[in-house]
Amino acid sequence: MEQRWSARLAERKAQHLYRRCRVADSPQGPRMLIDGKPLLAFCSNDYLGLAGDERIAKALKQGVDRWGSGSGAAHLVNGHSLAHQALEDELADWLGRERVLLFSTGYMANLGIITGLLERGDQLFEDRLNHASLIDAGLLGNARLHRYRHSDMQSLRRQLAAFPEGMRMVASDGVFSMDGDIALLGEMASICSSEQVLLMVDDAHGLGVLGRDGRGCVDEAGLTQSDVPVLMGTLGKAFGVAGAFVAGSELLIETLIQQARSYIYTTAMPAALAEAARASLRIVREERWRRDKLEALMWRFREGAETIGLSLMPSRTPIQPILLGEPEKAVTWSRRLEELGFLVTAIRPPTVPTGQARLRVTLSAAHEESQVDSLLQALSAIQEEQAA
Ligand SMILES: *Cc1c(COP(=O)(O)O)cnc(C)c1O
Repeated sequence: MEQRWSARLAERKAQHLYRRCRVADSPQGPRMLIDGKPLLAFCSNDYLGLAGDERIAKALKQGVDRWGSGSGAAHLVNGHSLAHQALEDELADWLGRERVLLFSTGYMANLGIITGLLERGDQLFEDRLNHASLIDAGLLGNARLHRYRHSDMQSLRRQLAAFPEGMRMVASDGVFSMDGDIALLGEMASICSSEQVLLMVDDAHGLGVLGRDGRGCVDEAGLTQSDVPVLMGTLGKAFGVAGAFVAGSELLIETLIQQARSYIYTTAMPAALAEAARASLRIVREERWRRDKLEALMWRFREGAETIGLSLMPSRTPIQPILLGEPEKAVTWSRRLEELGFLVTAIRPPTVPTGQARLRVTLSAAHEESQVDSLLQALSAIQEEQAA
């Protein structure tokens, strides 16, 4: 076994696909101390700049004072507190849905939803570029998994026509995590409704950022619970905390409580964390300036990047990847950026398709315009030296 591990690691290194963890010695934010070095970071999912927010930290501390450190049990045993209940109710109210169910992470929510709802003989259809947790859920579950071409509604229609048996479900990222583009939700909803297929949207990157009061891409597309019956969201990205949830009908939630194994067989998130997420939700709803600022920074970055001739993707979200191609090139650019004081991680296969390695630049409401400008200057300098 150990020989095999060594061989696999050596292969990865040779292909420039080796990954390692950097160690931060500062809270999440634009200015970070990483492996002892001060860097300006453009790679988190802390889109609204809330991960280091003092009010949320205070709610977490008060939560610990009231509830202690751990929930001590699964939700269905005695780990489900008033704080968890209040968070579920407040999220449901915000999203205009009947009910919400908390999960400990987004990965677990996706596993629980898909394996909990689909049975042998059912069919699951997923966008090829869906997040790994949705793909893994499809591979682990009992339904047959079909992957359609990215945002290609003809491809989806063809697959639906070819596989009419059993109960059927379409699951898609709302905002694609590595590309930043938004799913064609209106069209997907109308296909699903006419074909009587259940539609699930994972809006990990849209909630807090898009839509009225940050209600996400489903709200922005003018769709409701009846169009998108299963809405999944996470609390570790724009919310700046941790955890996840699914929002939908009473019947959906009751079913998941009985059947989602990653809900049933795991410890409830600490109640203090639920208190922190409640504080975060209040800020997400009220502080619209964060979304406005984020959007302005996004357009500023796009304009600047286009001026210097970088290859951007069609994204109007804070995820603004620069497509570079080969993993080696992405690693080189990332390393040069770091030498110039910026942290932007190289995203390589298998996270993205072969030949599509990239720098995944992400923006946050905590960034300043001048910081975006200095990133653009650094990118321009690297572009010139690489062309030379
Ligand atoms: C991050 C992410 C998840 C996983 O959420 P965690 O809470 O980090 O486990 C699921 N889906 C998408 C689209 C994501 O980007």
